[in-house]
Amino acid sequence: MNGTLEILSVGGSGGFGQNATLLIWQREGLLIDFGIGFPRGFPVGAARVVPDAEPLLSRCETLAGIVLTHAHDDHAAGLAWLPEAWRRAPVYGSGWTLAAARDRYEQITGRRLAGEAIDGEQRVECGPFAFHLLPVTHSAPESRAVMVRTPVGTVVHSGDFKLDPRPWRGLPTDFEVFRRLTGGKVRLLMVDSTGARRRGRSRSESDVRPALEEQILAAPAQVVVSTFASHLHRLEAVLEVARIAGRRVAPLGQRMNEVLRRAVDEGRCVPPRGLLTGVAELAAQPPEERLYLAGGCQGEPGSSLYRLSQGTFPGVAVGADDLLLLSSSTIPGSEVQISALEDRFLRLGCRVVGSQDDPRLHASGHGNREEIAEFISRIRPEILMPVHGDRVHLERCAELGRSLGCGVRQVEILERGESLLLDAERAWRGPSVELAPRVLDDAGLHLARDLIRDRRRLGKAGVVVVRVSWDGGSKEASIRSEALGIPDWEGDAGRAERVEAMVRTLLDGARHPDEGLEQLVARRVSRLLRSSRRVRPQVVVILDSDPAPGGEKENS
Ligand SMILES: [Zn+2]
Ligand SMILES: [Zn+2]
Repeated sequence: MNGTLEILSVGGSGGFGQNATLLIWQREGLLIDFGIGFPRGFPVGAARVVPDAEPLLSRCETLAGIVLTHAHDDHAAGLAWLPEAWRRAPVYGSGWTLAAARDRYEQITGRRLAGEAIDGEQRVECGPFAFHLLPVTHSAPESRAVMVRTPVGTVVHSGDFKLDPRPWRGLPTDFEVFRRLTGGKVRLLMVDSTGARRRGRSRSESDVRPALEEQILAAPAQVVVSTFASHLHRLEAVLEVARIAGRRVAPLGQRMNEVLRRAVDEGRCVPPRGLLTGVAELAAQPPEERLYLAGGCQGEPGSSLYRLSQGTFPGVAVGADDLLLLSSSTIPGSEVQISALEDRFLRLGCRVVGSQDDPRLHASGHGNREEIAEFISRIRPEILMPVHGDRVHLERCAELGRSLGCGVRQVEILERGESLLLDAERAWRGPSVELAPRVLDDAGLHLARDLIRDRRRLGKAGVVVVRVSWDGGSKEASIRSEALGIPDWEGDAGRAERVEAMVRTLLDGARHPDEGLEQLVARRVSRLLRSSRRVRPQVVVILDSDPAPGGEKENS
């Protein structure tokens, strides 16, 4: 067929989070995932990062559909921030994935999200595309790869995957189904590169339960287990071990309760009657019959685990003889927070055991090199496109793909905003588009670039406030300065005086018609502080009223 297919990376490659890929045929698109990200190295106050797809509307006016690979936030939690013109597109995914996406969407927008759950090998017609969802094993239930039939050949997106021969639930990934549906001919494969730096194969999820059991059965008093709240299979393993150990379980925190409630409501998780309970009921049990299931395994401030470590979680206190199990990995960037959290639990007298102490306490949801190699070799694509990772993971995956000798003729890495064009024979780079993700605070408000710059500066060097007022029509201005976050400001009385004297000189000096008085004062105060004390605080100038008439003052 004449024409070109465009594949455009909206996010997730060249930096973890915000996974989204857009396929465009004659201005009609199919979006695979639309996830959010979490700030790395941003100032306090930035809660999430969401993709901004508005600049893509000129290339893709209508969306034929949105396909979600699985329930993790970095793939399915961004729908509330889709451009308005794309919101009418039908959303597809497995039942569990849609339920999670719906929760996230409705929490943010207050509106219902319509979606169509796809079962089995059902073929879904979607504008110029048709797709199937194929089961893969991962740390979210009902994770799927996507096989898209396009006018220029078959495109496969692996989704997040590992090749777990013994998954906690469901069947191992079945490449026979892939082969049957693709007919063995795949034009392009997008493959999860997260584990491309790890040798060998990843641990099976089924190996985690015995390690949990070993620790929990030996614990003499209360047990707190923390893991990723979205990891339903791990939560089920903890519930099963709690039952064997004769403990009842209180989930802590909104997310943990939400996931378990949904799983129980939908019959995906069937704990014995009375096993799950509330905090107050569990407090009535003896300590050796209590188990708390807490979110916040990355040490996130405000999470239930964080509050437990601070002794501020209502109705729960941990101390000597209690055990904290961290059944999780460390997400890059969280090392310091987790270490501080562990230290606080240790100071309370708890025993702390994590996957660094016993690697069996966690199994990654992403396959290692051998699994990635097997996925590529089984699919045998013409073109390989590593996705999901920092640049280093994508490059390692690219090297791996080239080395396999399984028919990969071309390897392409697309970072955010970059595109690849394909016709029936060739594939070449298309024009890029500038995409700037939006950083949001806890309340969902946009922290624009200049706000982030201000917050960084405030955090780094403090703030000086200079207040100038002309009380009661007096010609003489009163000038006061105060500082926050600057060492020894109070103790160095001369400094405030120097600032105030300098401002007075400015007010009495020559006019500066091209510059507002606030900006002039701020600039000069900054310069003075920089030269005298080498500090670079944010300087805020407040003019309380206009200068008195007749005074020789600057323009404001
Ligand atoms: Zn992911
Ligand atoms: Zn995932």
